[in-house]
Amino acid sequence: MNNFAFLRAENAAEAVQAVDANVRAAFIAGGTNLIDIWKYNLRHPELLVDINRLPDCRTITETADGGLRLGALVTNADTAYHPLIESRYPLLSKAILAGASAQIRNMATDGGNLLQRTRCYYFYDANAPCNKRVPGSGCAAINGYNRIHAILGASEHCIAVFPSDMCVGLAALTAVVNVTGPNGERRISFADFHRLPGDQPDLDNNLQHGELITSIDLPPKGFEQNYSYLKLRDRQSYAFALVSVATGLELDGDVIKEARIALGGVAHKPWRVAEAEESLKGKTATPENFAEAAAVILRGAKGYEHNSFKIELAKRAIIRNGMMALEPESQRPGAKASR
Ligand SMILES: Cc1cc2nc3c(=O)[nH]c(=O)nc-3n(C[C@H](O)[C@H](O)[C@H](O)COP(=O)(O)OP(=O)(O)OC[C@H]3O[C@@H](n4cnc5c(N)ncnc54)[C@H](O)[C@@H]3O)c2cc1C
Ligand code: SF4
Repeated sequence: MNNFAFLRAENAAEAVQAVDANVRAAFIAGGTNLIDIWKYNLRHPELLVDINRLPDCRTITETADGGLRLGALVTNADTAYHPLIESRYPLLSKAILAGASAQIRNMATDGGNLLQRTRCYYFYDANAPCNKRVPGSGCAAINGYNRIHAILGASEHCIAVFPSDMCVGLAALTAVVNVTGPNGERRISFADFHRLPGDQPDLDNNLQHGELITSIDLPPKGFEQNYSYLKLRDRQSYAFALVSVATGLELDGDVIKEARIALGGVAHKPWRVAEAEESLKGKTATPENFAEAAAVILRGAKGYEHNSFKIELAKRAIIRNGMMALEPESQRPGAKASR
């Protein structure tokens, strides 16, 4: 029996103060990940701070620069089906709908999605060494069953991947995360929000204890004409990505003016390589040119005993998704099944 205290915060300042004052306090939003982690005995909060009643965090609003602000407590479902997201940021809508199940998306919040933990099997097994769960204990995955693990950006201390779909879309869109904490407010660009494992794999991201995500800003450019999200997994639904790709293109005829490509399921954070996106500018959108970009994105990729297949899979996914982004969604194979 683990006793804990519960506080329903009425505003962000109260929530931040309560969590900041206790290193074993945690915010709870939809609870779809935190409660799982708790049930697996990986975390035992002494104080649970319910943020579901915080004002101003449940809306999607237009920003002065022509973008959109997603409140941290807007659910994944409400975000994916919001008319402005469907029309202006369909890439994000598709990425969200590729994840979890309808029931989970109805509970899961946008802020919580950014902070979900890895799905590495050994992380959930209290008998296995895991540097993410117990720093310094070792990594059972490196010489273990590592089919779902990283091929990019891993370290000798951890080869876990970050499992979110929504965040792959947010990375491609260059979103910004708004945070309030004990030291005030700050804005974190999406590329800097999550981190690679290095020698501190217990840290998934650059948020400090007590910092609360209040909203996520989408810049005006949504790539609403040419976009695609491709998720490759062991089952067609209700499974995490082995490899996923979010692609947004701005085209002039068949020439690429701007490209964004983010990968999921391959690293400890959504994986973007600016050099590859730059290299596509001014080129025609062909399989050959996407293959060249894929070679840059996957430079340095390293497979382990059970996941080397991901390197070729990621290359093919980048090419296929780039070509899919050229076609209207209604003409793509499997378009209906993804809803
Ligand atoms: C069976 C299952 C399948 C899933 N499949 C997928 C999938 O295929 N793709 C995918 O992307 N996701 C998937 N998910 C993950 C799901 O999307 C996340 O669990 C969900 O988005 C987390 O949001 P939440 O509001 O429930 O977070 P919670 O569980 O409430 O919180 C998660 C963490 O975030 C912290 N937190 C929450 N909100 C804030 C905030 N505003 N500021 C600071 N800290 C905060 C909490 O303290 C906690 O540490 C799956 C989940 C389950 C259970
Ligand atoms: S890959 Fe990371 S999360 Fe998995 S066992 Fe190794 S250290 Fe733990």
